[in-house]
Amino acid sequence: MPYFIFYSLCLSIFFFAGCDSRKIIVPEFDEQNSMRLLTKLVSFGPRSAGTAANLRQAEFIAETARGYGAITNSIKFKQLTTEGLLEFINIEAVIPGRRKEFIIIGSHFDTKKMPAGIKFEGANDGASSTALLLEMIRTIKASETKPEYTLKFVFFDGEECFNEYGNNDALFGSKHYANQMKEQNLLPQCRALILLDMVGDKDLNITLPLDSDKGLSEMLFKAAARTGNSKYFDYLPTSLIDDHIPFKKMGIPAIDIIDFDFGPGNSFWHSSEDNIKNVSAKSLKIIGETTLNLLFLGNFAKKT
Ligand SMILES: [Zn+2]
Repeated sequence: MPYFIFYSLCLSIFFFAGCDSRKIIVPEFDEQNSMRLLTKLVSFGPRSAGTAANLRQAEFIAETARGYGAITNSIKFKQLTTEGLLEFINIEAVIPGRRKEFIIIGSHFDTKKMPAGIKFEGANDGASSTALLLEMIRTIKASETKPEYTLKFVFFDGEECFNEYGNNDALFGSKHYANQMKEQNLLPQCRALILLDMVGDKDLNITLPLDSDKGLSEMLFKAAARTGNSKYFDYLPTSLIDDHIPFKKMGIPAIDIIDFDFGPGNSFWHSSEDNIKNVSAKSLKIIGETTLNLLFLGNFAKKT
C-alpha cells in the first residue's frame, strides 16, 4: 500500500503540474512599445527627485498605467534631504491576481542630479526599467492570463543620492514604501520583490548583486533558460546598494536585476553617455520576456 500511495501521489503531482504549465500562456512583451515609452520618459529632461520634470513624469507614469488598466495609487511624502525638505512621490500600479498575496515589481524613475553643464538623459538609469514595467502592465492587462499572485508594480522616487549613498541619502522612495508595508501589516502577504534597474544597455550583461535572494536568483536563471536568454545573466562579485535593500532588511526575498557594467568599465553610468544611443529595444525585450516568464511560471509558494 505505501508504494501504491506514493505512486498515486506522484501521478497526481505530475498530472496537475502538467495541466498547469500547459494552461499558462505568458503574455508577450512588445519591445517597440517599451522603446516608445522609454523615449517619452527621456523627453521630460533631467528628472531628479523634487523637480517639476520629475513630477510631470510621475503623472505620466500613473496616467499610462491607469490607461493600461492597472489600479493606481500616487503616494506623496516629504523628507528632509541634503538639498532641504523635498516632496517625493511613489506610484503603485496594481493588477489583482487570483490570490491576495502579492509580488512587487519595482523600478526607480528619478534620475541622478548632475552638475550643471552635463547633459544627462538617464535613458538606461531610470527610464529603461520604468518603460519596461509600464509595458509589462500593458501586456498583462491585454492578455487572457490572470496572474496567480497580485502584482504590484511600484515606481520608486528618490533612488539616487544627492551626495553619497548612505543611510540618509538615497533610496528615499523604496524605504518609504517598505516602511508603509510594515505599518499596514502587509509584510506577511509579500512573496517577493523583483527590482529592475539599468536594463536597457545595448551590450546587455545582467549582473545580479551577490546579496540577491538565492531562491529567486535560481528562479530567474530558469526563466532565462526557458526563454533562451541564459547567456545574458550572471552574478556580480559584490553586493549593491539599490532599492531592493529596504525590502531585504524586512525579510522579503529580493532580487536586483541590474546590468552594472554600462560601457567600458561601467564608464557610461551617471554620465552623458547614458543616452538613447546606448540602449536598445532588443535588451528591453530580453529582460521583459524573461521577467514575464518568471512572474507567470516561477514558483512563489512560501517555503515551509
Ligand atoms: Zn543611478
